[in-house]
Amino acid sequence: MAENILIAEDDENIAELVKIILEAKGYSTMWAKDGKEAFAMAKEMVPDLILLDVMMPKLNGYEVLKLLKEAEGLKHIPVIFVTVKGETDSKVVGLHMGGHDYITKPFDLDELIARVEAALRIKGEHDSLRQTNARLSELSMTDPLTALYNRRYLMERFHEELERARRYKYPLACIIVDIDDFKVINDTFGHMQGDQVLQKIAIIMKNANRVVDILARYGGEEFIMILPQTDLGGAETVGERIRVLVEEEQFVSSDPKKKVTISLGASAYATGKVGTMEELLKRADEALYQSKKTGKNRFITMPLEI
Ligand code: GH3
Ligand code: MG
Ligand code: MG
Ligand code: MG
Repeated sequence: MAENILIAEDDENIAELVKIILEAKGYSTMWAKDGKEAFAMAKEMVPDLILLDVMMPKLNGYEVLKLLKEAEGLKHIPVIFVTVKGETDSKVVGLHMGGHDYITKPFDLDELIARVEAALRIKGEHDSLRQTNARLSELSMTDPLTALYNRRYLMERFHEELERARRYKYPLACIIVDIDDFKVINDTFGHMQGDQVLQKIAIIMKNANRVVDILARYGGEEFIMILPQTDLGGAETVGERIRVLVEEEQFVSSDPKKKVTISLGASAYATGKVGTMEELLKRADEALYQSKKTGKNRFITMPLEI
């Protein structure tokens, strides 16, 4: 696909010349006749490169660059300043502000092409690095089997949510989920079916959670949910719904009558009473232990005594 270059230039003759040269090289171009229009077009079209005249009506080139640098989706677009020959100051200012390169008018056409090609090449490399980084950071926070968050990321977010709950004075609940007799499921139907059970339960929980809830695989067949702005009563509703959904789901195709169940334990910090992560986890774990002890396929909640 042809790369798209925005030519921001108030001199129509220059703009036309640049357009012809770039299009002859296979690029597609757009023309903005002043700074305001340049920023509006950049926002709408997100070009691969901007040739930015410095002296322009409405907004000058520096002002446009400043706006671009402040916009999340636009700040990575390389900008080549087009300055008038001899204006050394403007070249330096432009580069300091984050311009990628500059070219002086009247320009040598081969030089223009060479600078455009170089800027686009570097942009391509940056884009692919950014994609790789995004992918790596996603991998570092997810559990590969269930695509839920992993334990490491959970801990990070748990601390953040505790801080938020403390600062803004809202309740925070934690639910721990453990699959019942999972060892038997593995032993009876095999490890692969066991993995599918984990995946299916992950989906059930995800669908029953709000976007703001943090859902993670904590260990082998254990999950944790952090529910911001939720008290113990609210957690009870969510947890009980998930328990029933799992109980009613058919997991093992070769044995449709086989029930898979989960046990849950929860606790919560009430508004204005936020303590530590360890304390909340410990209490939720005690509740889970009670669920297991009193017959499994249960949800028990325990308030924190403060
Ligand atoms: P309880 O009801 O007391 O929780 O019994 P349980 O059998 O679920 O608990 P236990 O801790 O004895 O066994 C957990 C089992 O989970 C043993 C382990 O092999 C299995 N497991 C852990 N991670 C995975 C996994 O990624 N895939 C599969 N298939 N099994 C796993
Ligand atoms: Mg101008
Ligand atoms: Mg367990
Ligand atoms: Mg278990």
